[in-house]
Amino acid sequence: MSNSAKDTLETKTVSNFIRHIIDKDIANHKNKGQVVTRFPPEPNGYLHIGHAKSICLNFGLAQDYNGVCNLRFDDTNPEKEDEEYIESIKKDVTWLGFEWQDEAKFASNYFTQLHDYAIELIKAGKAYVCSLSPDEARTYRGSLTEAGKNSPYRDQSIEENLDLFARMKQGEFDEGSKVLRAKIDMASPNINMRDPIIYRIRKIEHHQTGNEWCIYPMYDYTHCLSDAIEGITHSLCTLEFEDHRPLYDWVLDQLETPSHPQQIEFARLNINYTVTSKRKLKLLVDDEHVLGWDDPRMPTISGLRRRGYTPASLRDFSERIGVTKVDGVVDMSTLEFCIREELDRSAPRAMCVLNPLKVTINSWSEDEIQELSAPCHPKDESMGRRTLKMTRTLYIDRSDFEEVPPPKYKRLTVGKEVRLRNSYVIKCEQMIKDDQGEVIELICSHDANTLGKKPEGRKVQGVIHWVSEQQSVAAQVRLYERLFSVENPDSSAKNHEDEDSHFLDFLNPDSFNTMQNARAEISLAEAQSGDAFQFEREGYFTVDQDSSTKQLVFNRTVSLRDSWAKTNKK
Ligand code: ATP
Ligand code: MG
Repeated sequence: MSNSAKDTLETKTVSNFIRHIIDKDIANHKNKGQVVTRFPPEPNGYLHIGHAKSICLNFGLAQDYNGVCNLRFDDTNPEKEDEEYIESIKKDVTWLGFEWQDEAKFASNYFTQLHDYAIELIKAGKAYVCSLSPDEARTYRGSLTEAGKNSPYRDQSIEENLDLFARMKQGEFDEGSKVLRAKIDMASPNINMRDPIIYRIRKIEHHQTGNEWCIYPMYDYTHCLSDAIEGITHSLCTLEFEDHRPLYDWVLDQLETPSHPQQIEFARLNINYTVTSKRKLKLLVDDEHVLGWDDPRMPTISGLRRRGYTPASLRDFSERIGVTKVDGVVDMSTLEFCIREELDRSAPRAMCVLNPLKVTINSWSEDEIQELSAPCHPKDESMGRRTLKMTRTLYIDRSDFEEVPPPKYKRLTVGKEVRLRNSYVIKCEQMIKDDQGEVIELICSHDANTLGKKPEGRKVQGVIHWVSEQQSVAAQVRLYERLFSVENPDSSAKNHEDEDSHFLDFLNPDSFNTMQNARAEISLAEAQSGDAFQFEREGYFTVDQDSSTKQLVFNRTVSLRDSWAKTNKK
């Protein structure tokens, strides 16, 4: 069965304040009417759903305005960065359906230019080498309520600064002993403008530039200049950078750069019951609270992909949540809604019994196998039909039989009838228990006159799913719940002495369950990793990469309905 319909979801574009700015710029012929954006991840972890929003925004705008979007790695912290992350980020952006302009770019491509610009700043008296220790620098910086003090090194001569900066670059000084600072205003109410550091000494190998440099530029200095060098027109970032915008503009105003991009801030995506911070996600991986960056419970793009989310569903989600200037928290069920809606349309139906209970139809002869035909999709005939095999021994789900049924019970119990989906009506004649009193088998009879028609003279309301014992495939089914048991694990951890790791206390201990002995209908024997199905009455599932010909492995992507909201919210 194919899932070719998977990636065809159309998303409607809704206008937003960034589009309004761009429309106005185009009307005024600003930037010659061009739109050039960039997605600038730091390669210090795998991308998460928040990044997906930024990717869809940046690449989406470029597409819609006939512009281009660069992928640029902001690689100024070599100690935290890794080639593995670079590869995963490229894979995720491509998988989401976007293409960056030319080769992927690196801020480190510009290290020489950035260094030349720094020398220009020094020569213009706009930057100086400061030899305060980190502790001293902290006291000089002041606080939110108190102005900072000028560093005693602030008025060093230009010659001295040039000499010291050259020696910093040559590796003459220890890490932390000297920094290059922009000379702005120690009394500024904006702490970012109090002579921020623009270069620091780090004697560490860089994944792109090797041992060429032992001084590395700071993020704020690097970002605006990289944008300007690449001719970015609209530099979109999250709200926490609003207070950095004066510095972004200051650096570009001091230097003769090819362009002066406009920084525009938007609200980051927060989702409840999870965390979206690479640092925290890395902690989950490193401390083995999850099985890896692509654990299907993770809000990473790779985790969501393995869970069964499609590129179209994530693009749809990004479009639905919109772009605003106000921080908020999006409900996890919004994300689930997007994939459920898509899979309802595109996923072929199949039957899989997660927790099997054996059924013997004693009215069925020993080796008779009857082929039954069922539609792959109830509303889409073009998806074709599949063949089920009816045999004497079957499995139904344990939860579809009750020895002592509650009132109005519509499933199976001794003496009552149900319909086997796409097959016959059966009646439970007898149950067999083991020594512990657990029901291990049901003996049933079938009504041969009920295939595709109602039984005569009586009503059978219940319909349950089933598979043949021999004509089915062994499967392991992995069920996932929310990774955290509280809505906001981050703020629940606020003000705790161990704020950085306290969020781990809110991990949901039941977020992962495996059904080891599931059985899937025979038509799934050839299912391939990534194929998606609706298991009737159970939910949407995708074949995991751990799947083999011996044993299929399925991940539950999402349940059929949003049951979480009902059972878990006050
Ligand atoms: P994290 O805190 O998870 O490390 P980050 O902002 O440090 O995130 P970057 O690699 O620097 O991660 O982010 C690349 C781009 O993605 C930036 O432009 C950033 O603003 C954007 N981004 C990161 N997180 C989110 C989010 N939750 N919602 C929207 N955009 C985001
Ligand atoms: Mg960052």
